[in-house]
Amino acid sequence: MKAEVKTKSLIEQDKEHLWHAMSRYNEKANPMIGTKGEGAWFTDINGDKYMDGVSGLWCLNLGHGRKEIADAAYEQMMNLSYFPLTLSHIPAIELSAKISELLQGSYTTFFSNSGSEANETAFKIARQYHTQNGNQGKYKFISRYRAYHGSTLGALSATAQANRRVKYDPAVPGFLHVPPPYSYRSLFGGDAQESDLLAADYIEQVINWEGADTVAGVILEPFISGGGVIIPSKEYLKRVAEICKKNDVLLIVDEVVSGFGRTGKMFGFMHSEGVQPDIITMAKGLTSGYLPLGATAVNSKIYEKFKENGVDNHLRHISTYGGHPASCAVALKNIEIIENEGIVERVSQLGQSILGELRDLIELDKVGEVRGAGFLYGIELVEDKATKTPASEGAMGAIIAACKNKGLIIGRNGDTVPGYNNVLIIAPPLSSTEEDLRFVI
Ligand code: PLP
Repeated sequence: MKAEVKTKSLIEQDKEHLWHAMSRYNEKANPMIGTKGEGAWFTDINGDKYMDGVSGLWCLNLGHGRKEIADAAYEQMMNLSYFPLTLSHIPAIELSAKISELLQGSYTTFFSNSGSEANETAFKIARQYHTQNGNQGKYKFISRYRAYHGSTLGALSATAQANRRVKYDPAVPGFLHVPPPYSYRSLFGGDAQESDLLAADYIEQVINWEGADTVAGVILEPFISGGGVIIPSKEYLKRVAEICKKNDVLLIVDEVVSGFGRTGKMFGFMHSEGVQPDIITMAKGLTSGYLPLGATAVNSKIYEKFKENGVDNHLRHISTYGGHPASCAVALKNIEIIENEGIVERVSQLGQSILGELRDLIELDKVGEVRGAGFLYGIELVEDKATKTPASEGAMGAIIAACKNKGLIIGRNGDTVPGYNNVLIIAPPLSSTEEDLRFVI
């Protein structure tokens, strides 16, 4: 079949048979069909080349084509193709120990396949922990507006972006939402740090109003990513951690995006000294997107309650493919590369200078704020700097299309409340070359 005819027939099949994520049917008129990737770049079916400025879905941290990672999967598949984690296998054991070491505490990990599942697992563990600790009534979770924690019903209930939820409500009972530490549009007043600390105190207020004996956990990303790259002051997470501790509420940190170097530290929570979360969830950068894997790491204090023998205290939770041997082998190789190539330090150093350059955009009329950490950037666009009226849908779409025409893929914050979808998002692969990064800027 001639290449042109083949492309046409693929597009027809795509339109009829392949359901795209988060996309309207009419957006499929001219689908971007990727065919080949190399480093931070990919080629589509028309032979056009693009720099992937959002690392796929913020996951392709080491870029395309790492042979060592592919080899690790191949070798593992040939050696032990599948093995369930009702039993055990070596890559999962080694990976769980490695995760504990990276978290700089004593952690036990439950593996799944995705970030959503990692968060669902965290909610189940938290509720069961409190029950086994004699606090049956502690079942509620607090998360922040603008947060995204996943697409399955529990994780979606923790998600607080109206448009993602509206057709799928009612939510799972027991999920409450509070304002984010969003100093650019602060509800609280004061400077950025004061505003963020008041946002933290609001969490305590809600715990008091609801009754601490009903609240199981707080779930948050160290830096809100999909909700518009919101970077609180370092004190915010410290204050939230203190509030959680005081009220016997578990601190669940969602590191699905921020984990494994994205923000210039191995984990995002490490920007706030002295914070040691109770539960940490991971996915994406855990395997750099090469294979699916989710992980829920639980502090030994929590795991203690699941250890006692002869009592009905085991976690009734299972995932057929969670902790697949090949995914664990890929994660181990991915982490080895991150360590050997000093990726986290590189992101920390280069990230500062890129942020500095992107901040020059603030001179432009429509740039309200430029935020970032490591290789994660958000550019908030407004119609008017004084009123902070969000940039229109049309303006946002035009900028993204203009970047695409120049060969750069960038994103915007999720499908949130209309009119507040005005943050451009840039999150290049952590292994991008300096030339790639210059292209983005
Ligand atoms: N948590 C955060 C912060 C995310 O950004 C995402 C996905 O984008 C998830 C959880 C859900 O991960 P997954 O899509 O792997 O289920």
